Amino acid sequence: MLVVIGNTKIGKALHVNLPLGAPRGLGFEAFKSGTCPGASLWCLENCYGIDRPPSEDPESIGALMRAIELSLGDLKAFKETIVGELLDKARFLEASGDTLEDGSVPVRLHVIGDFYHPDYARAWLDIVDELKGLKFKFWTYTKSWWTEKVAETYARIGLKNPQALAEELLSTLQELRRRENFTLYASTDKTMPDITERPEMRSWLEAGIEFTYNKKSITCPEIPCVVCKYCIYGRGHVKFLERRSKVRLIPKPWKTPLSSKAWKEFMRAEKDEIEKYLEFIRNFQKTNKP
Ligand code: SF4
Repeated sequence: MLVVIGNTKIGKALHVNLPLGAPRGLGFEAFKSGTCPGASLWCLENCYGIDRPPSEDPESIGALMRAIELSLGDLKAFKETIVGELLDKARFLEASGDTLEDGSVPVRLHVIGDFYHPDYARAWLDIVDELKGLKFKFWTYTKSWWTEKVAETYARIGLKNPQALAEELLSTLQELRRRENFTLYASTDKTMPDITERPEMRSWLEAGIEFTYNKKSITCPEIPCVVCKYCIYGRGHVKFLERRSKVRLIPKPWKTPLSSKAWKEFMRAEKDEIEKYLEFIRNFQKTNKP
């Protein structure tokens, strides 16, 4: 089993994960200890995967190890397994009525982990294309767009032609984000470069920590993604509050699937609460500096 069903943050969506963090060691083996070649300083200190498994299901840890091993060992088998499991598990969500309003099955890539190599990203391109027209809606966030950091990581673990590989990874991601059934966010934080100054990244959706380099973004309301759906449909830039100091004060309509109109109303109603929440976090951080 490589595909896992649901967790308390994303809700009942299918997800596939990989080991978190920067690769450690040498060669391709290094990816078994971490699949985030673009991991920033912020990631290394704060990755939420450090605190908790990617699902409430204890099987999910085994699933992410099997996913990295199979994708490193036999990409063709990886693709076939993922396609087979997605089709199978989608039937389960359809039967329980847990699809998006247009009947699509939401699939989140990498609750932890990232696109670690261009061959792996290309495998997802094939998977997404094979499932085109079958009502899957994929979404994820990546730091693998940061080519300098990716090239530096590849050089550190001894891969050949690190710069060319890093560029190939970005160009594969560019292709992936153009797919209709795939929403891809460029993940950013204060320890990373300003994404808006990069011509090749200008039309990307951004997901930042505390702030976004793009001027307009909403604050994630921290309700299950299958209820909110803002990122699933790529409705705009988004920012997340730092998880380690987060205190949930925002009410959560867990049980109600929100339409886009209802979501806007919910956000309007919660705007003041969210502002208060942000203020609380800012003060909390000011007074709790390490
Ligand atoms: S903004 Fe909505 S969809 Fe995006 S991460 Fe937050 S809850 Fe999930």
